[in-house]
Amino acid sequence: MPSILAVPALAGLLLSPSASGSPALAPIDSLYPDLAAFYMDLHRNPELSTHEEKTSKKVADRLRALGYEVTDHVGGFGVVAVMKNGKGPTLLLRADMDALPLAEKTGLPYASQVTAKDDSGNVVPVMHACGHDVHMTSLVGAAALLAKAKNLWRGTLVLVGQPAEEGSDGAAAMLADGFLARFPKPDFAIALHDDPRLPAGQVGYTSGFRSASSDSVDITIYGRGGHGSAPQYTVDPIVIAARTILALQTIVSRENSPFDPAVVTVGRIQGGTKRNIVPDEVRLELTVRTYKPEVEEKVLASIQRIARAEAAAAGAPKEPLVKISKGYAANYDDPALTRRIAAAMTKAFGASRVVELPPIMASEDFGEFGRAANAPYLEFSLGATPAGKFEAAHGDPTKVPGLHSSEFTPDPEPTLKTGAAALTVAALEILGKR
Ligand SMILES: [Zn+2]
Ligand SMILES: [Zn+2]
Repeated sequence: MPSILAVPALAGLLLSPSASGSPALAPIDSLYPDLAAFYMDLHRNPELSTHEEKTSKKVADRLRALGYEVTDHVGGFGVVAVMKNGKGPTLLLRADMDALPLAEKTGLPYASQVTAKDDSGNVVPVMHACGHDVHMTSLVGAAALLAKAKNLWRGTLVLVGQPAEEGSDGAAAMLADGFLARFPKPDFAIALHDDPRLPAGQVGYTSGFRSASSDSVDITIYGRGGHGSAPQYTVDPIVIAARTILALQTIVSRENSPFDPAVVTVGRIQGGTKRNIVPDEVRLELTVRTYKPEVEEKVLASIQRIARAEAAAAGAPKEPLVKISKGYAANYDDPALTRRIAAAMTKAFGASRVVELPPIMASEDFGEFGRAANAPYLEFSLGATPAGKFEAAHGDPTKVPGLHSSEFTPDPEPTLKTGAAALTVAALEILGKR
């Protein structure tokens, strides 16, 4: 394992945060071997979204053994673990549990060899390529530290193992299953996500908008098919699609304010069967990312307008069909809460291990819990890339395997210790005795 001391930016830092302050963190070194075994078991046995049966049982069993009151099968395979410890605020800590349909190529001794049937019945490889195994282990580690340190805090901990984060509405399913009514309502909600922009051992935060809304748009463009040699008798939907795709680029570049981030990506285009046939229709699949709801509405309206106008300009026999499916909303990390937690982590880990990060256009459903409870929420970043690799890449995130990569390889010890410690520090900042 590369030493974290090899990174100049981190020179002089300890691998373990246990020496750096709160007595609650002291047991982390002795907990680590057990946490590592838990992590490697999760990594070796990933499960797809909405299929987290064994994973959720492992998380539930661990939390139950630590003395938490555990309810399972909340909104599918969701786990909720509650620990009441006197009068004080209620804090939700959440980890997601699902893995991705991807063949692991890390070569790790604990690499996944798992295949499973996806929801369409296809057999697919499965891998924890988004680090949700890191999140679960960090949560279980923090749960252990906080259970040992009950004399240092007051209030209620609500630990959530969330299924189906990867685009399958797991948070919404837990909320629809009565989460707010069945369990103590959180005053604050905190989560972490591993982040290839940081080396293992560091944490990062973003105040305000952190992740974007994500909408799917399907466009079917109708033409009039015919022989490829006789275009004069056809209306070619492939040409309309090509013009539509180019015109869509002007939404972000010409219609949208440069101060409001937005992405319009046409990720799939499907049409035609043979070179000498003009097809009847072409289908486009888009993903749309924005922060502000008003920008989201404007971009979606522009897509519809442009699709219709390009079809009309070509004399298409009918208007295109534009189907919009709203996905996750943007997450807004509460600035006051972010300031508070960033300060607490800086105190615990030192300033060089806590960095401010720019927002991203990926999306995530953690914010649903905070918004539903009307509670401030924060998702912070956890470094996972081995420090030596990060250093060799000069911090260029395109040169290290990132999230959803078949080669994504978190460095277990500094990542898991820092993840568990960071959640613990955050919890003690909210619930700690003054
Ligand atoms: Zn992911
Ligand atoms: Zn993820």
